[in-house]
Amino acid sequence: MKRFLTVLFIVISLVPSVFAQGRTETVFTQEIFAMDTYMSVKCYGKEAEEAAMAAVREIQRLDSLLSTGKETSEVSRVNSSGSAVLTGDMKELMELSLMAYEKTSGAFDATIFPLMELWGFSSKEFRVPGKEEIEETLKKTGSDKLSYDSESGKLVLGESQRLDFGGIAKGYTSMKLKEVFSSFDIDGAIVSLGGNVQTYGAKPDGSPWRCGIQDPFSSSGQSVIAAIEADNLAVITSGSYERFFTGEDGKTYHHIIDPSTGYPAESDLVSVTIVSKNGAEADALSTACFVMGKEKAVKLWQDSGREYEMILITKDGTLHITGGLKDSFQTNSKFEIIY
Ligand code: ADP
Ligand code: MG
Repeated sequence: MKRFLTVLFIVISLVPSVFAQGRTETVFTQEIFAMDTYMSVKCYGKEAEEAAMAAVREIQRLDSLLSTGKETSEVSRVNSSGSAVLTGDMKELMELSLMAYEKTSGAFDATIFPLMELWGFSSKEFRVPGKEEIEETLKKTGSDKLSYDSESGKLVLGESQRLDFGGIAKGYTSMKLKEVFSSFDIDGAIVSLGGNVQTYGAKPDGSPWRCGIQDPFSSSGQSVIAAIEADNLAVITSGSYERFFTGEDGKTYHHIIDPSTGYPAESDLVSVTIVSKNGAEADALSTACFVMGKEKAVKLWQDSGREYEMILITKDGTLHITGGLKDSFQTNSKFEIIY
């Protein structure tokens, strides 16, 4: 959630389309740049235009609330004062983040911001910090160092601590967009928030919504390695190929930090996709599972009662897909099913 707010705002189309059953339906698409990524909203049905416009307003509202690059955002205000009484979205995000911190044994940590800054991911002035700087900065991170009272919403950050909801914001946004859509007369919608997809309602031709999973090995970033059918679900991916820089040492450093080391997470995974009804949880889990690696990610899935589905892509190019997706995915790559 960095500095470029909504710089691009293009109205694409308002067109009646004829679908398989001969029905005519209005489709309305909007594309925007927000949360430092390209986003699109496509709605079908009577109030397609109104719904898509309201969705864009909601994205912009959350962007200006959560942007760490904007001094006036709610997150920046909390970060500079060190304490606050949280309400609304901020309260919800704090609680979801703390739950994720507990559930993932600290692999998801919303207090990661000082490390994001140290590596230059917030300013885009990337650099490889020294060991001592990392050690020093690690003293500021850790959600166990803040105090939060869910009854009153009172948050007190630890010494020099700062929040970054970037690992959960897009999933949270997709969850909020479902609420927005439900207040309009539309048949269905599909949203892509930088490749993180949320589907809503029915597709006009009656077929299931299909979501592509980006091929982490493709240099163009355009090709798809698998597709899944996903009705009324969030399909959220974290990968090392999404944002990275090449250091003077020739190595690449990506934007998902292992809170236990302070370095970009190194595991056997190149990409994690979580499929869930709960977008916020899917987002936090995709970031955390990427940090945890395959074995721990599978254990977490088993321990949490298999309440979501996953596609883990390991460095050797194999797809590891949880059992619940077995009948709804297609791939030409090597895969195995996890039970
Ligand atoms: P993206 O936002 O690129 O789709 P993620 O959901 O994995 O991918 O989020 C990465 C963002 O999350 C980083 O840019 C940073 O803001 C934040 N982040 C990085 N590491 C962690 C972590 N271990 N826990 C929580 N948030 C993190
Ligand atoms: Mg995430």
